[in-house]
Amino acid sequence: MRKHNFNSGPSVLPKEVLEQASEAIINFNGINLSLLEIGHRTNWFVDVIEESKLLVKELMQLNNNYEVLFLHGGATTQFMQVPLNLLNENETAAYCDNGIWGSKAISEAKIFGKVNVIASSKDQNYNYIPKSFTLPDNTKYLHLTSNNTVEGTQWHQFPETTIPIVADMSSDIFSRQLNFNQFQLIYAGAQKNMGAAGVSLVVIDKNILGKVSRQISPILDYRKHIEAASLLNTPPVFAIYVALLTLRWIKKEGGLAEMENRANKKSSLLYNTIDSLPLFECAIKKEDRSKMNAVFCIKEEVLQNKFLEECKEEGMIGVKGYRTVGGLRVSMYNALSLESVEAITMLMKNFANKYS
Ligand code: PMP
Repeated sequence: MRKHNFNSGPSVLPKEVLEQASEAIINFNGINLSLLEIGHRTNWFVDVIEESKLLVKELMQLNNNYEVLFLHGGATTQFMQVPLNLLNENETAAYCDNGIWGSKAISEAKIFGKVNVIASSKDQNYNYIPKSFTLPDNTKYLHLTSNNTVEGTQWHQFPETTIPIVADMSSDIFSRQLNFNQFQLIYAGAQKNMGAAGVSLVVIDKNILGKVSRQISPILDYRKHIEAASLLNTPPVFAIYVALLTLRWIKKEGGLAEMENRANKKSSLLYNTIDSLPLFECAIKKEDRSKMNAVFCIKEEVLQNKFLEECKEEGMIGVKGYRTVGGLRVSMYNALSLESVEAITMLMKNFANKYS
């Protein structure tokens, strides 16, 4: 039996995606060659990348200003590539400091230009999303992390502004319906809702490019990747193919509306269970709780370890909180079934009965 996989990323993927991906390693599309043996400029692979782009555009309902790229280096590379391409040395970008990943993005942006941290929830252990802030007119762009994987908060409503918004959607991409055209740049590492580690999705409104005066090495220049249709150098072919299979699966299952519906069901079951059991505690402000990563704890350390042992015995993995935060974390990405959430909530209830 497959484990109940609550990992935060890399994380659970649809079984049929894994089966199709393994088949492609042996015999890709019936051509008697492995996907890993064909050239990235062959029609076979160009078709993979082109269909992936079309599916991204379709699922996100992007208008014609947007370009879709598949790049290397994880979301972390985007912390640097965004300011490198968008921010001159004497210009200012606004950043929201809502968690560990956003604060890493801030440190990197400071290398390239000026950073105005307009909102931070660090004062309260990042347990809420700050909503009232003002954006000075001369702000080049606003950067935010739509879902804070480590801290368990999520933006449920985005700022209304004419200033370009850049969003790190690594941990909630394709999990809900949004007006994606309100963001000028979206990036996400693939290893949560989009497939295997090794590729990042970058969606850009091309009108924001070409406005910095510095020289940019071609491999880090979004415009060069657009010109080369994500084939500037050898792309991570296997990770892109798994992304294609996952995108096809999302579409087949009912698109973002259905993913959102499932995320609502799973997350409300889990949070209702936490809130109903005094042994467990979730310190995240209710309105800002993440539907992808629930971060909570059992106050007594000894019981927490006991709970983790019981999870392991029941075939539930990935429940331990992030190394610097501690506690518990249950990640509920698209491919996690409702049955897995039902299983852990049952375990929580039984555990609370035994130890309260
Ligand atoms: N941003 C967010 C929101 C993340 O959750 C992560 C990774 N968990 C990253 C950035 C960094 O991603 P990567 O490891 O792909 O560089």
